[in-house]
Amino acid sequence: MDNITASEVAGLAVGTLLLCATIAAPKIDAFFSSSQRSSLGMCKRCGNLRRLACSGCKGTGSVKEGGIFGINLVDDLYESYGNRESKVKQIACAKCQAKGYFSCPDCSKL
Ligand SMILES: [Zn+2]
Ligand SMILES: [Zn+2]
Repeated sequence: MDNITASEVAGLAVGTLLLCATIAAPKIDAFFSSSQRSSLGMCKRCGNLRRLACSGCKGTGSVKEGGIFGINLVDDLYESYGNRESKVKQIACAKCQAKGYFSCPDCSKL
């Protein structure tokens, strides 16, 4: 069992870290660029992302027709099994104008 050396393990660990960093890079980048702009401390509401995910559409920008209030639990259930996915109409979320998020009210005051 000496075919895995310490350096190989270290290389694997670094590779895994790099992979994670690559996957998370867009998020980290967005996070840091916005936090750099306001170095006065973190916004408690949005973490300096300057946007809040829409609760109506869960940040997707579209909602199932008639499902805004979470009534269509049966549809959701069927949809999760992939049976009725094409039958569920997606409509633009009226709450956020289909953007999927709101501007953070705290940050937009600045
Ligand atoms: Zn929305
Ligand atoms: Zn904010």
